[in-house]
Amino acid sequence: MLGRVTVNVRVPSDDAVLKTIKIYNRGLQHCIDVAWKKRIRNNIKLHPFVYKEIRGFGLQSQLAVACIKQACGMVKRAKSKPAINSFSMRYNSPRSFSFKHGILGLSTIEGRKKFNITLPEYAKKYIAWEIDESVLWSDRKNRIFFGLCLSKDIDIPIRSAQHRQVLGVDVGIKHLAVTSDGKFYGTVIPKMRRHQEHIASLQSKGTKSARRHLKKVSGRWKRFMRWKNHNISREIVNSLGEGSIVALEGITNIRSNKGRKFNRQLHSWAFRQLQSYIEYKAIQRGCLVAYINPRYTSQTCRICNEIGTRNKGFFLCNSCGYSCNADLNASFNIKNRVKPLAMAFGLNVNQPIVASGGFLNVKHFESPDLSYNAHRF
Ligand SMILES: [Zn+2]
Repeated sequence: MLGRVTVNVRVPSDDAVLKTIKIYNRGLQHCIDVAWKKRIRNNIKLHPFVYKEIRGFGLQSQLAVACIKQACGMVKRAKSKPAINSFSMRYNSPRSFSFKHGILGLSTIEGRKKFNITLPEYAKKYIAWEIDESVLWSDRKNRIFFGLCLSKDIDIPIRSAQHRQVLGVDVGIKHLAVTSDGKFYGTVIPKMRRHQEHIASLQSKGTKSARRHLKKVSGRWKRFMRWKNHNISREIVNSLGEGSIVALEGITNIRSNKGRKFNRQLHSWAFRQLQSYIEYKAIQRGCLVAYINPRYTSQTCRICNEIGTRNKGFFLCNSCGYSCNADLNASFNIKNRVKPLAMAFGLNVNQPIVASGGFLNVKHFESPDLSYNAHRF
């Protein structure tokens, strides 16, 4: 199974790198615009239409190629034309970056630049792992970061894991997170309502200044949510011992029956953000992260596994009569779904493993040779 970690490191501030990020994103938007207009979803087909132009922006050829590829990937997945509003870019090893003996080499518009990087203590054990496509980005204060992605194929011996602490985490609107140890984290509903009303009124105005204001307001909201998500994830992860398993719902379908469409749009990124913060903080703590199949987590009774009903935030099981806060019930289910897997795979891994993209995911979960498939998930 593929273990994967992302180690985020600060890169010393550098004008060439900052400029590269900005130009790359300008190029990326250009590629998206062209791909969208011409309905091209394939990078080889897009290449002749955009390559010269973005090289003209000052992008070095490998970065231009990466830019075209990323644009196609984004357009392929998008329902409406993607707009670039952050400053990040992808780097491929060894073509556009290298990392060796603590020195990070980056391709920039002014040629290859080298930086001394100190890896955080927890990350030193991954140093021998394989280097994957990584991400360079800058924040509002023009600080530069590099998310070094490392992966390794790991053999997981089959051994008992019942002594491992498993924590199920349900993310949602009413409470941003509810955990299977009975804790409720963060409520933002009143604030969110006010924010939505504010946005709706600005949208209905439609003037230039309203649009400018709208941008400001949503920026402020995003920063607030990010701050909130950082705090909640820290609190959750701090309660875990090393080697614990954090179970999260698969990202494909975060409670699609919950809340109005507007709520969901406003919040889907925030859910995912919270999960990713929990994920990377858990890894830093030496925990394992697993994503489980999200189907019916909120409607299934955690005691008897039957489908129940939810009403005003409460879950009621019609078979056994069990009743409980619906989000709490969901967090128990999330935890319970990981447990049999934890046993089956032994999960005797001292290294943290991130689940995204291949570990303990839906595919494994539905594997027919595992006996717990008989349950209803
Ligand atoms: Zn029941």
